[in-house]
Amino acid sequence: MEEMTKKRNALLAKKVIEGLRSRNMEAEFAETKEEALKKALELIPEGACVSMGGSMSVHAIGLSEALKNGNYNFIDRDAYEDKRQAMLLAYDADFFLSSCNAMTEDGVMVNIDGNANRVSAIAQGPKHVLFIVGMNKICKDVDHAMKRARNVASPINAQRFGLKTPCTQTGSCMNCKSADTICCQFLITRYSRHAGRIHVILVNEDLGY
Ligand code: SF4
Repeated sequence: MEEMTKKRNALLAKKVIEGLRSRNMEAEFAETKEEALKKALELIPEGACVSMGGSMSVHAIGLSEALKNGNYNFIDRDAYEDKRQAMLLAYDADFFLSSCNAMTEDGVMVNIDGNANRVSAIAQGPKHVLFIVGMNKICKDVDHAMKRARNVASPINAQRFGLKTPCTQTGSCMNCKSADTICCQFLITRYSRHAGRIHVILVNEDLGY
């Protein structure tokens, strides 16, 4: 990432962190993927039961790999033949790992989901939810965050899964109702009822979509 962009992001992150804390969430800033990984592993005690939604950002900092290879009870959905069973186990995990599709400058998160296992676990169930969020996901306000989630994150994710949706042809949301749509459930997280349940690590890198 270009030096001036990193400088701007570091300044903006202070506002984002203040916003998250005002919403009863924990938040901290990491300059690099390596620093983010170190901070994440400091938060998750050995032996913890950990699950995750489909998150490129969690993979990108090396967290899923570290948990798989470490002394943790990591629920690896890909290794489960019964995906429903893996999803149900996630609701009682000590930690659920995720990113968000977009976040506002004052700490509101937007997530869109097809199966809803990710947004439902963010909303309720796991004792802790740890978000890994690249500064590329920060948007001015909820309107911009929703536009980013729908017109950037969802079309790219639809491409990633090889889905037959209009956005895989146009590159932008066409507000479809196709059978393959991944835009079934929209979650806006504006406050955490339970102090310390949600923890966000903002990373000064481009992570995920
Ligand atoms: S609503 Fe349909 S077209 Fe729009 S992003 Fe979602 S899947 Fe793509």
